Amino acid sequence: MNNLTNLPNSEGFFGEYGGKFVPETLMHALKELDETYSKLKNNPKFIEEIDQDLVQFVGRPSPLYFAKRLTDHYSGPQIWLKREDLNHTGAHKINNTVGQILLAKAMGKKRIIAETGAGQHGVATATVAARLGLECHIYMGAKDVERQSLNVYRIKLLGAEVHAVDSGTATLKDALNEAMRDWVTNIEDTYYIIGSVTGPHPYPMIVRDFNAIVGRELRKQSIEQFSQYPDAIIACVGGGSNAMGIFHPFLDESNVELIGVEAAGSGLMSGMHAAPLNDGEPGILHGAKSYLMQDENGQVIDTHSVSAGLDYPGVGPEHSNLKDSGRANYIAVDDKEVLDSFHLITKLEGIMPALETAHAFAALDHIAKNYKSNQYLVINVSGRGDKDINTVATMDGISLD
Ligand SMILES: *Cc1c(COP(=O)(O)O)cnc(C)c1O
Repeated sequence: MNNLTNLPNSEGFFGEYGGKFVPETLMHALKELDETYSKLKNNPKFIEEIDQDLVQFVGRPSPLYFAKRLTDHYSGPQIWLKREDLNHTGAHKINNTVGQILLAKAMGKKRIIAETGAGQHGVATATVAARLGLECHIYMGAKDVERQSLNVYRIKLLGAEVHAVDSGTATLKDALNEAMRDWVTNIEDTYYIIGSVTGPHPYPMIVRDFNAIVGRELRKQSIEQFSQYPDAIIACVGGGSNAMGIFHPFLDESNVELIGVEAAGSGLMSGMHAAPLNDGEPGILHGAKSYLMQDENGQVIDTHSVSAGLDYPGVGPEHSNLKDSGRANYIAVDDKEVLDSFHLITKLEGIMPALETAHAFAALDHIAKNYKSNQYLVINVSGRGDKDINTVATMDGISLD
């Protein structure tokens, strides 16, 4: 299993997944991006610039924090939290956007576009675009514009334009379609900052590499704080960037179990979910081959999750390869478990997780019993929950108006 860390291959494949399934018009742009990134990623000046931004602008390193009351609650393993919720703009997304905006700058692109689901990637992109004074357009499903109104307003305050997308289910997949359409049309001056480890090569690799700072910090912090690597690392999986970022530096550590948590929505049995690794088949979406929720004719089927950031029928190709190889395991938790978990963590720890992140916490109900008190679990707290308060209130039957 040693070669897992060296993927993708030069054609962008992680095993049989990934690749570049795009129209001719995009091939040149992807090649240019691949070449620029390959050149810059080992350039000491570029590395130093990113490191400085991660420290001074994002606020890294994020703490590794012992969740004492949560540990007592499960009375099993020690539960530790990697606090990506404390990053500037409130989630792991900024790790990727600070890196990609520097690629855009190096390539001389003046116009930035991005898709967003929960709005966190839209905010993180608008933030770095504002900082460099670049024009910025964010595509967002109309349904998400409604359920994430706070983030929509944040994006506008940052000077970016929000384009609501009405097609399909009016969620993340449709926003990605529109962003790709914009990119094809404006390829000369436009840089597309993809928000997860999805899309055609080289994006899954680039977004993973920029998020891998999380796993690299965890390697160091876990040794410093509890003198071993974690026994298991748990992260929620939408497109899969926060999970890939914390998993990747541990792929060669076979004693470290890697557990991804997908959105089971109304339940895996109901078909109303967003869990392609648990209940999907390989197919092609947004330029890459990966597990996908599709019908018997290969048509993408509608997804459902309470959490806008996980409401996506596909998943990053590297996760598909980790699933098939058995290096990582993927489970799913439903909306009700997530809401219960949101309340539990908030009350027990004084930390209000994003609904996406609450999926990772909800997994504890299923797996905590498998570990002993001398074992260590780390949960990647991908983001904070302020953006979700309206959704939580509605689910609780409370009106905030
Ligand atoms: C966007 C988002 C996710 C899901 O995206 P991944 O690429 O799967 O990490 C998870 N948590 C938070 C807080 C997010 O904003």
